[in-house]
Amino acid sequence: MISELLDLVVPSACVRCDADGPALCDACIAELNRPGPARRGTAGGTAVFSAWRWEDAASVMQAYKAGQTPCARALGQALHHAVDAVIAEARERGDVGTEPIALVPIPSSARSYRRRGFHPVELMARRGEMPVVRVLRHARRVADQRGLGRRDRAANMVGAFAVHGVLRPGCPVVLIDDVVTTGATLDAAAAVLRSRGARVLGAATAVSADRDDTPANDR
Ligand SMILES: [Zn+2]
Repeated sequence: MISELLDLVVPSACVRCDADGPALCDACIAELNRPGPARRGTAGGTAVFSAWRWEDAASVMQAYKAGQTPCARALGQALHHAVDAVIAEARERGDVGTEPIALVPIPSSARSYRRRGFHPVELMARRGEMPVVRVLRHARRVADQRGLGRRDRAANMVGAFAVHGVLRPGCPVVLIDDVVTTGATLDAAAAVLRSRGARVLGAATAVSADRDDTPANDR
């Protein structure tokens, strides 16, 4: 009885391999981290670095978004590596020097926040020790991206975000998100930030998925 109750609050098994212990075991974290951050480009030309691959990390992301918040630490550290990779590439290109860079999270919708009770991207960033600048908000309600094809996803996200608050003109920005699928969300966010004078260096996500029907890609 007691152990059943503890299961409700303290994960006692790895969400990925079911080994006894923390929510995500060290062996799984090592396996997830092994390939290292991978780069891809979106249709809109945003460079994206992702720490983990969907085929390795699907169970982790699904468990996390369903409320396994202890996974936030490993996810946050992975996201931190992806952010470092974006910045390293931008420095190599000469797009940014040593000035401060704003990490801008893709926001959750009010609907998702009500359902989950936490902001997955912001919690990950906090656990990964990355201060964020919350300047994006949802400008309108968007359709669930699941089940939409590549083109429909892009159309669905046009004008989805608005900028609130003030960004320094020319401020270098790295977008952060949990999962990238087609990149439509990141492109829409990058476009609105650029229209407000920000210099978007690229985006970093914890996980990268190729499939268009990724169940975790909901806002
Ligand atoms: Zn494990």
